[in-house]
Amino acid sequence: MNTPQRIGIAGAGVLGRLTAWILARQGHQVSVFDPAEGPGPSFDGQGAAGFTAAGMLSPLAELDASDPDVAERGWYSIERWSAITASLARLHHHAPHFDLNGSLLVAHGADLGAAKRVLARIESGASQWPQQPQALSAQALRELEPALHGSAGPLHAWLLPGEGAICTIGTLKALQATAPDVQWHWRHRVESLTPGQLRCTAPDPGSSQHHDFDWVFDLRGVGARPATKVRGVRGELIWLHAPGVTLNRPVRLLHPRHRVYLVPRPGDVVVVGASEIESEDRSPVSLRSAVELMAAAHSIMPALAEARIIRLDTNLRPALPDNRPEVHTEPGLVRINGLYRHGWLLAPSLVDEALTQAGLST
Ligand SMILES: Cc1cc2nc3c(=O)[nH]c(=O)nc-3n(C[C@H](O)[C@H](O)[C@H](O)COP(=O)(O)OP(=O)(O)OC[C@H]3O[C@@H](n4cnc5c(N)ncnc54)[C@H](O)[C@@H]3O)c2cc1C
Repeated sequence: MNTPQRIGIAGAGVLGRLTAWILARQGHQVSVFDPAEGPGPSFDGQGAAGFTAAGMLSPLAELDASDPDVAERGWYSIERWSAITASLARLHHHAPHFDLNGSLLVAHGADLGAAKRVLARIESGASQWPQQPQALSAQALRELEPALHGSAGPLHAWLLPGEGAICTIGTLKALQATAPDVQWHWRHRVESLTPGQLRCTAPDPGSSQHHDFDWVFDLRGVGARPATKVRGVRGELIWLHAPGVTLNRPVRLLHPRHRVYLVPRPGDVVVVGASEIESEDRSPVSLRSAVELMAAAHSIMPALAEARIIRLDTNLRPALPDNRPEVHTEPGLVRINGLYRHGWLLAPSLVDEALTQAGLST
């Protein structure tokens, strides 16, 4: 183990909790600061985007709109999540749901041309990996996902092997609950960071505090402005309760206008997402987004007709000007940001890279 270091972390989202968990388990003294009221989700559009995320782990599907290095980091992260969730299952009484059953791309017959363009982009980005999209016959699709039916005829479908999903809320809660001896400072907003020092406002009105550390980590996502040129990209999604409707893996509908996905969650929940809007509006889900997402979901899974809408959620994806993630390390200070639409897919890879650069990895 390294000599124990005093670590101050700004932000308790995906990056903050994962970093705290890894460093605390290595024996470092970790303090985390976040303006949230406590460790659970708030569902008011204000908390960590990590809670809102659907939790798809899709290195292949993300190649539609990202560089191959996102996929490379993604495959690495999937292996890391596999080991981390296995540890969480041992340490925590509720093991967070994590599966790698592959995911599906589906398209209505009329949209086959647009779908083939997406597949061509994925196949060209994935040429160096063994995992490739596999076209499925109607019979093979029925066997994998009997509840999927096109509203206007059979669906075209492709399996993306090795992809999966992680339960975002369960994992964030478990990371927080099992990180040993971490001091969690809720209702503390970090105003500025410099190498080895962090300044924040505490719950008492007007009370400002300075804290000294060996290392500070800026993991505030959209809240890292102005230190980082990050912007928020609005995303909306819908939780459906659908008892008796089976969905075994994430499904994405390839459509010329919408990118819509369905992700199964424990408790007969299906999460339908997500809009992607260049806006920092954190207000509730719009009627237009709700109608488009639900109509698209129903068009490939008619059995959802009687599902109950149990939650509408909004949040902001933290994105840098080039939409790529960034790790910055200097003595006493680490910043990671720009995880955009694939923060769960990238976080373990970026955190490990930062800890290696900082000499904090074991
Ligand atoms: C609708 C939607 C769907 C998504 N789906 C997926 C998906 O399927 N797969 C995937 O991989 N990714 C997905 N994402 C993206 C993923 O959620 C983000 O990339 C990820 O959460 C970014 O992690 P982060 O730790 O940088 O930021 P966050 O998770 O947003 O955490 C930032 C934390 O910093 C705190 N903070 C803010 N300001 C301050 C301050 N001044 N001081 C201290 N703390 C502060 C916040 O309270 C928060 O807790 C989705 C995002 C959205 C919005």
